[in-house]
Amino acid sequence: MSIISDIVESTKAIIKGMSVTFSKIPKEKWTVQYPDEPVTVQPRYRGQHLLHVDENGKEKCVACFLCAAACPSDCIYIVAADDPRPYEERVGVDNRYAAVYNIDYGRCIFCGFCVEACPKDAITHGYNFELSVYNRADLLKTKDDLLITKQKQSPNYRVAWADEDVDSEYKEV
Ligand code: SF4
Ligand code: SF4
Repeated sequence: MSIISDIVESTKAIIKGMSVTFSKIPKEKWTVQYPDEPVTVQPRYRGQHLLHVDENGKEKCVACFLCAAACPSDCIYIVAADDPRPYEERVGVDNRYAAVYNIDYGRCIFCGFCVEACPKDAITHGYNFELSVYNRADLLKTKDDLLITKQKQSPNYRVAWADEDVDSEYKEV
């Protein structure tokens, strides 16, 4: 093949490629300028867990270990304790509560089995996905990191309405 036909073929390939690029430019952008703009997550999104409290602020977890037993990654560590004080004074809804409740996010696969296993609705997935750290040991989150009353919520996401089709933003148009 001559050098002339090489140049012609290469030019045709470049024009074909650039025509695809230019055809996309007028279309709506999908890119979210995170963290300058909040990311929208679906209501069903599984982020960092939340440990819940009742209407009086008492921890719902009764340290039954069912979540730890259901966890396929073996990443939940609980130490149970008894708090015989009356309801008004104690930590949790029950005498028995979790003195220690750790989740190792270096192992968690966000499967949701722990949430399904909990008989007390004490644990759910929250929406926080900003779990990156520089030190692996910092992936271990304690009760203070997980309690809904203490967990710091990031301004970098919003949760979609249940009937909002956020997925369509990411589909080919
Ligand atoms: S989401 Fe799955 S892997 Fe993570 S703590 Fe719960 S059961 Fe374990
Ligand atoms: S979070 Fe639920 S399943 Fe896990 S120990 Fe507490 S009460 Fe039991």
